[in-house]
Amino acid sequence: MLVILDGARYDVLRNLLHKGELPNVKQHILARGSLIPAVSSFPSTTGPAYAPFLTGCFPGTVEIPGIRWMDKELRARGGKGWRRSYMGYEAIFFSRDLAAPAGTLFRHFRHPVNIFNMITAGLRKGGNASRYTKPLLYAAAHFAECWSLVDRVAGWHLLRAVKDRRNDLIVVVFPGVDSLTHRSHPFDRRVLEAYRWFDHVIGRAAHALLQLAGYDETLWMVVSDHGMTWTHSHFDLVDFLDRRGFRAMDYPRVFRRNARAAVMISGNAMANVYLQNSRGWYGRTYREDLERADGEFLVALMEQEAVDVLALRDYKGGIHIMSKRGAASLKWEDGVVRYRPLAGDPFGYGELPEVMTAWESLEATFTSEYPDALVQLVQLFNSRRSGDLIVSATKGHDLRANFEWPEHRASHGALLREQMIVPIVCSHPIDARPARTVDVFPTILKLTGKPIPAGIEGQSLV
Ligand SMILES: [Zn+2]
Repeated sequence: MLVILDGARYDVLRNLLHKGELPNVKQHILARGSLIPAVSSFPSTTGPAYAPFLTGCFPGTVEIPGIRWMDKELRARGGKGWRRSYMGYEAIFFSRDLAAPAGTLFRHFRHPVNIFNMITAGLRKGGNASRYTKPLLYAAAHFAECWSLVDRVAGWHLLRAVKDRRNDLIVVVFPGVDSLTHRSHPFDRRVLEAYRWFDHVIGRAAHALLQLAGYDETLWMVVSDHGMTWTHSHFDLVDFLDRRGFRAMDYPRVFRRNARAAVMISGNAMANVYLQNSRGWYGRTYREDLERADGEFLVALMEQEAVDVLALRDYKGGIHIMSKRGAASLKWEDGVVRYRPLAGDPFGYGELPEVMTAWESLEATFTSEYPDALVQLVQLFNSRRSGDLIVSATKGHDLRANFEWPEHRASHGALLREQMIVPIVCSHPIDARPARTVDVFPTILKLTGKPIPAGIEGQSLV
């Protein structure tokens, strides 16, 4: 049983557990197992951040670098499907766009069931229980603001799926916490109510399993795709690009004429920015290209209060990182991260070894304000669909000033600790080591007695 409590913060879940407000999670899952914090994936956004659970790989590896993205190469060649926004009808392409080296979790089980999760590749016919209810229900919930209803329907689907003994994997998403937080803040009464409702459903599912004598043999994994923080200011990144001479298209203005740039925002605190160069949309636009076109661009963008971290590729094959605290260069070579501060300390990490494995890098940065940011930037730039320039927003700010209805009062997507750290609750004891959400996939396979395939990026937590 893989339960995605979308947008749940580690600290909020843990506090509710400590206060005894999630009695069913405590009794049926935690009492037999563990709760640990883990790093999600960048961008810490619904959709891309589901990929680790379902594929064992980072969003960049599976070519889903954001909830919106652009494929410059396709655009340059005039091909179809060069842009995506999974926020609308294009969500149906999500599974087709996903390039999972070892397939999805569904492929490793005989009778999997899916409820409200947008990654459906590998499901057998009829395995997507919410196939007909999801599109209408999500649209209605968005406009009528009734996300608690969607969580109720998720619970209804879950109880039905539990009672069918043929099912050997259930993946269910409760979208309420994420959606309700966007409209208020992570500690709002209605948001906490969504946690409690989810707990109530866990209790009912556990009792159903007790009656069916399937209780002891059921593995529970409760996870979240990202945390969220309160947002007080919206920065218009498109407007900034326009004013610097990079007329930009974005969603919903995808047909803007003579656009020389594209801004694809996720969550809304992260953006993939695509820039034309002397060859139009062909090839990447490197730091040197951008500085040749506009020597003040990066400095001017960095001066914006809403901009926290900028990252872009350079001619030397590295990633150039900038923040208000300094600049650094980053490279992924022969299975190790090479990180070299050039000025100041952009992430406030303090002393770090210059060469680290992916694991060492996670361990060294896990408790910082930017957990795992080095590996997370590398994996994102691995995607050919990632932006030329990556923008991560400052706490309290997002990057989308228009076209968001209802207005977002909370955000995610950025490299910030409170948006990247998520809970993993497992009904079996798991290692209390620094973890990533990519580790959930191999952990589930191991605990259900299945072989762990080659080519994935996570490591089992048992
Ligand atoms: Zn989410």
